[in-house]
Order: sequence, then structure tokens, then C-alpha cells
Amino acid sequence: MTPFWRLGGRKGEAGMTPPGGIDCVGVVEQLYEYIDEELDEETVEKIRAHLELCKKCYPHYNFEKAFLRFLSERGRVGAPPELKRKIFQRILEEESHG
Ligand SMILES: [Zn+2]
Repeated sequence: MTPFWRLGGRKGEAGMTPPGGIDCVGVVEQLYEYIDEELDEETVEKIRAHLELCKKCYPHYNFEKAFLRFLSERGRVGAPPELKRKIFQRILEEESHG
């Protein structure tokens, strides 16, 4: 399976504007901030539009939301965002290898 964030990197598909005007990589990179509502309104709108239209990113958004919820329900560990990001990237990497 091709990792979803690499699909947008194919140059053969000229004229393809990513949903919301932001590509999958940009969305995934900012998912935490999006869920934590740490982004400015403009970016939030872009990501929201992207998630509504992109069937590749939406499951990851759902997954990440559930994942963050899981972390917070595990006794408010208060893991720093960098750590959470690392964990999530690890999961994505493992997914892409499978
Ligand atoms: Zn996407």
C-alpha cells in the first residue's frame, strides 16, 4: 500500500488541487494542533475542508482523535505534544510498512 502522504507527491497529476488548498502532508503534520484547537482560523478552515473531502486523511483524523482521547483517559499523563507526535508518526510508519 502506498503511504497516503506520498500520493500527493506524484508529479504526473498536474492540475490536481488538494482539497481545502492544503495537501495531505500539511494536514497530517498539523492534525494535533487542529484537534487541540491551537491553529489560526484560516488553517482550521483549510484542514476542515480537506478532511471533509479527503478520504485518505479523514480516517487518520478519526484515529488520531481517538488516540488522543485514549491518552487523556489513561490518567492524564500530560504527554508533551512532541512525544505524542512521535508516537503517532511511529504508528503511521508501521502502517506504511504493512
Ligand atoms: Zn488528504
